Amino acid sequence: MNGLLNTYARQPIAFTHGQGARLWDEAGKEYLDALSGIAVNGLGHAHPALVRAIADQAAQLIHTSNIYRVPLQERLAERLCQLSSMDGAFFCNSGAEANEAAIKLARLYGHQRGVAVPTIIVMERAWHGRTIATLSATGSRKAQAGFEPLVAGFVRVPYNDLEAVRAVAERNPDVVAVLLEPIQGEGGIRVAEAAYQQNLARLCREQNWLYMVDEVQTGIGRTGRWFATEDAGVIPDVLILAKGLGSGVPIGACLARGEAAQVFKPGNHGTTFGGGPLVCAAALATLDAMERESLLDNARERGHQLLAGLRSELNDVVGVVDIRGHGLMVGVELDRPCGILVTQALEQGLLINVTSDKVVRLLPPLIIDTVQIERLLEILVPLIRGFLGAS
Ligand SMILES: *Cc1c(COP(=O)(O)O)cnc(C)c1O
Repeated sequence: MNGLLNTYARQPIAFTHGQGARLWDEAGKEYLDALSGIAVNGLGHAHPALVRAIADQAAQLIHTSNIYRVPLQERLAERLCQLSSMDGAFFCNSGAEANEAAIKLARLYGHQRGVAVPTIIVMERAWHGRTIATLSATGSRKAQAGFEPLVAGFVRVPYNDLEAVRAVAERNPDVVAVLLEPIQGEGGIRVAEAAYQQNLARLCREQNWLYMVDEVQTGIGRTGRWFATEDAGVIPDVLILAKGLGSGVPIGACLARGEAAQVFKPGNHGTTFGGGPLVCAAALATLDAMERESLLDNARERGHQLLAGLRSELNDVVGVVDIRGHGLMVGVELDRPCGILVTQALEQGLLINVTSDKVVRLLPPLIIDTVQIERLLEILVPLIRGFLGAS
């Protein structure tokens, strides 16, 4: 033991500092970061404007309480509502907590409409977090195993399958909401078709269900838009954010629109830490920097470069099943488990991730440049070719 409970299979490596898309370990070795702390460090490492915003705010005020007004929280809420067409925000500290807020909102919405056992439709392979309720919503038996009894009130359907949702609508009068990732991240960079999202949103409207999108991983510029749902032209009732929102400080948000924004009343939900001055200053600095540096455009353009490079080098390679993604959220699905690639890439100075056993996942910081994408391809392509050839 190293003093820690044994919850992670960690790489035996620690970083001392970073700059932009680069990191250095304790031995002074340099790495290219194509993971961003799992879609968190959108601005890369040690972004000067973010560092300054955090330092300045820390010198002013770190925490008060939600017992009082928090002007920075109000500013951040207004900013996010303006970007997303939502009407209100609740701030918390993580993706799981933001989904918890959405689940509670949907249940309360149901009870307010006289639904006795409010039920939420969730997807196969979904990932919504590791608290008991979000774990129950998550579609991974591996993550759930050993933690039963799970929370009731979820019905699971296949992803990208509107008929399956219609079938639930016909037999279950207790449904109050659908919870969807526009692109499943942990589930293997699986993309919800635009028509499916549009039809699902329409079905929700017809049924008076809340259309809730978990954009914890896809949100805040990751896909080249502020929110991935914009690509489908859909505005949800509930929008869930976290990972990229604070560029590394822990912050989550559950935003709601229209009727959904009227559900919570004082006393229904809350948090001690959520939406404190420090994290809100960091999130505002993140949004400012993204606008100033046109990072949505960069995510789209570098994403095209990355996808095009991967496709031209790997499309015909036997063992490559699919190459897909949006913006800087890209997956290369192989025909066999490939976790070993993470270690091999590290040895070559590149941080990547493998999810769903067989999908190489790339989530570089939104500030990554053309040359760094080329470097990423130079390291990764031969690794994947070698892995498929050798095994
Ligand atoms: C990471 C993730 C979560 C969980 O966020 P935590 O901050 O780890 O609790 C929820 N939903 C999606 C889509 C995620 O990618």
